Amino acid sequence: MDRFVRAALVCVSLIAILINGSAISVGAEKVASKVLFSLHVISLYTKSPDQQLAMPVEGVSKSQIADTWHVPREGDRLHEGQDIFARRGTLVLSATDGYVVRIGENSLGGQTVSVIGAGGRIYYYAHLDSYAANLSTGDHVTTQTVLGYVGNTGNAAGGPTHLHFGVYGRGGALNPLPLLTDRPEEKSSVKPAKKGRTPKGR
Ligand SMILES: [Zn+2]
Repeated sequence: MDRFVRAALVCVSLIAILINGSAISVGAEKVASKVLFSLHVISLYTKSPDQQLAMPVEGVSKSQIADTWHVPREGDRLHEGQDIFARRGTLVLSATDGYVVRIGENSLGGQTVSVIGAGGRIYYYAHLDSYAANLSTGDHVTTQTVLGYVGNTGNAAGGPTHLHFGVYGRGGALNPLPLLTDRPEEKSSVKPAKKGRTPKGR
């Protein structure tokens, strides 16, 4: 029930944004696509959040991830996500089905992509070297969609290249690690996790 109330509220707010935000100059087509996008997002809110997330970095298995959830970071910050280390340029794939809600740069995350998935959860992909060509806000993505490429932009500059992967639910940040699953095609070619050396992320 609460889910539908929430969806209705989101619907009302999105319509308000559409009415107020749409200048007369905006073409009808653009408005239509905005309405469609809003409807997609509303339908996501009515679904249960994903219980399993596909590994967002190509060629990496879950066993290779050193758990960095809530590790203290500069400025009394706790690390709200997982760092997944890989060579520069490694494919970053969406961990879920969803829609791109933001593509942009910030000082901590560098070049980032945010995707909204089922249950209104936000999946945050940061420190990207570059974005996938033609990726736009509003795009539908699946677990096969390339979002960008591993890098070390933002506060990871100068450090080892990695994807910072964050998951934000209704109650705030969630640890992505228990939800992550290896991609089927990687199961046969998984190399054993390197022991003794765990690069430090940001
Ligand atoms: Zn991180």
